[in-house]
Amino acid sequence: MRFDILTIFSEILSGFFSAGILAQAQAKGLIDVRLHDLREFSCDPHRMVDDRPYGGGPGMVMQVGPFVRGIEAIRREVNGRTRVILLSSQGRLFRQADAVRWAMLDGLLLLCGRYEGVDERVTSFVDEEISIGNYVLTGGETAAAVVIEAVARMIPGVVGKLESVEKDSFFNKDHLGPPQYTRPPVFRGLSVPDVLLSGDHAKIEAFRNRKAWEKTACNRPDLLGLDIDRGNSNG
Ligand code: SAM
Repeated sequence: MRFDILTIFSEILSGFFSAGILAQAQAKGLIDVRLHDLREFSCDPHRMVDDRPYGGGPGMVMQVGPFVRGIEAIRREVNGRTRVILLSSQGRLFRQADAVRWAMLDGLLLLCGRYEGVDERVTSFVDEEISIGNYVLTGGETAAAVVIEAVARMIPGVVGKLESVEKDSFFNKDHLGPPQYTRPPVFRGLSVPDVLLSGDHAKIEAFRNRKAWEKTACNRPDLLGLDIDRGNSNG
């Protein structure tokens, strides 16, 4: 699968893709990550891509032209086989189900905003406007990294064992995965639950299911439809 990213700060992302599972996935040819400098699509002699907001106000707004020319050029390069995503604090919330769905595509083109955001008219040229959470980042690069990592993990072969992906939080339903333990068996008086050392796979499975449910109820009651406000609501 191909990932194209349109940004003014490629250097933020180049290190991210050069280590770990995503670097291995590129080496195996499972993913292809291309960073594009938005300034290449500026028509300004100084390669400016932002301007003052109409109607006044603080800061700068990223212009529509460079984004649209960038989208068109990259779409041509991939024969239209990409889905264009605008990373935005005002978008629909990104979920695991999106990662699963998008991992079946040929490509994703991710647009990274900066400053006060992008000219609203950019939204007319994208397939989706996506937020990674109810908070504001300085730029879309970290959001693009989050989306690409979540999608890439769903591509067969990127994560070693399919089973480890299937048991993760959010994979099948919107619930969390079970807690995990490793050696040592006792650390500062805290013991690994006996059942995990028992070798009884049926009991281990039942224990993990119960703990996964308890953890979801405690940390994310919203996922279970429980109406308890513990800071997971929109506020
Ligand atoms: N003025 C905007 C607002 O009120 O929503 C915030 C702009 S933010 C400082 C600059 C850029 O960071 C955005 O254009 C977007 O690309 C990115 N960004 C910020 N928060 C994000 C989030 N939660 N999810 C995805 N992208 C985000």
